[in-house]
Amino acid sequence: MNTTKIVLDEKDMPRKWYNIMADMPNLPAAPLHPATRKPVGPDDLSVIFPMSLIEQEVTQERWIDIPEEVLNIYTLWRPSPLYRAYRLEKHLGTPAKIYYKYEGVSPAGSHKTNTSVPQAYYNKQAGIKRIATETGAGQWGSAMSMACKFFGLDVTVYMVRVSYNQKPYRRIMMETWGGKVFASPSTQTESGKAILSADPENPGSLGIAISEAVEDAATHKDTNYALGSVLNHVVLHQTVIGLELKKQFELINEYPDVVIGCCGGGSNLGGVSFPFIHDKINGKQVRVIAVEPESCPTLTKGEFRYDFGDSAGLTPLLMMYTLGHNFMPPGIHAGGLRYHADSPLVSQLVHDKLIEAVAYGQTKVFGAAVTFAQTEGIIPAPESSHAICAAIDEAVRAKEEGKEKTIVFNLSGHGYLDMTAYADFIDGKIIDSPYPVEKIKEALNKLPVIK
Ligand SMILES: *Cc1c(COP(=O)(O)O)cnc(C)c1O
Repeated sequence: MNTTKIVLDEKDMPRKWYNIMADMPNLPAAPLHPATRKPVGPDDLSVIFPMSLIEQEVTQERWIDIPEEVLNIYTLWRPSPLYRAYRLEKHLGTPAKIYYKYEGVSPAGSHKTNTSVPQAYYNKQAGIKRIATETGAGQWGSAMSMACKFFGLDVTVYMVRVSYNQKPYRRIMMETWGGKVFASPSTQTESGKAILSADPENPGSLGIAISEAVEDAATHKDTNYALGSVLNHVVLHQTVIGLELKKQFELINEYPDVVIGCCGGGSNLGGVSFPFIHDKINGKQVRVIAVEPESCPTLTKGEFRYDFGDSAGLTPLLMMYTLGHNFMPPGIHAGGLRYHADSPLVSQLVHDKLIEAVAYGQTKVFGAAVTFAQTEGIIPAPESSHAICAAIDEAVRAKEEGKEKTIVFNLSGHGYLDMTAYADFIDGKIIDSPYPVEKIKEALNKLPVIK
């Protein structure tokens, strides 16, 4: 019998997160205050974040303890399984070995609970009563709603209006876990009201929803803000994925040649790959590939410069690959990959050539998703399907070159709440939205120039 599933014992779960800032050849440039354009200090951030998370944002300590309460909740779905994709390999006729780490086993169905749980924990510790946050298609909002309920916190979620109307199931999940959900732009905030008065039909965007959540948190003393990706502390929490994966590979005496993750804000990619990039910095041969959609090609076509994280310009300016904070990507189903920018850590590592980036069109991505579902069974999230697509390309290349190779990708979530996306693909309605070159140029031209 072939071993398909490599399972780690609960007692061998990582007890610390890995902080890549201890090892990076170049640290990301300091975040700047949106008004003064001077580096932000802890006090600027303490309006919306607890001090423990601000410390994790800036520390260069290599290992950070995972609190016991967080570990206890992690064991609901961690350690997550690693699979060998035998049937997919056979279907492709490749000499490559393909593995995938499956994060869809969490209660919310994606990797996002790896950070929503510690974020809720640290806010509770700091005496906070409510979290305000945003969500695109609903994955982050549902992960945060569950975590807040576990720690007795209230949660207000600003959900991008198009998704609120088109995808009721994630909203219902959030409400089931006790979340209060508003379609964004909403009338709850000044930034939402301003947008609605100019354009009552505004469909919303992640950038607008972030502005609303940040404003809500900044104007209520008992309320903090939580972000599901991009920031250093978020990617830090996700490294539990890559640390487990390394131990699982040790169990079977393997080491990957290629580590692949889809990239929206960079958290699952950073999570799965940073422990391997640690080895790469120390001389090991391993490639890391970030995969994004052609319609929102942040790493492959964006510029590496300072930009805001939201559309209203309320957040600090971060040094990152960006398409411009006013860029509105086409409405692809992979909502989690429709963000204008990327994690400063991932961006710096791409800039320093420790991470490669590729972009794919939607028809090819959904073709890969269906091939995966038909060979491996699991129906993947549209976001995760970008990683599958790149893994298949690598395996096909190995076949053409007649080379053995070990490939692993992170299957960041399942797609069981994304059936309309699959229906569209089956009905031939998924199209390759062309790379929106003019819109990106326009958004980049409006960016602040920092000297
Ligand atoms: C949110 C999400 C993503 C994109 O976010 P990252 O921070 O880039 O990981 C990818 N996959 C799934 C399943 C998601 O929910």
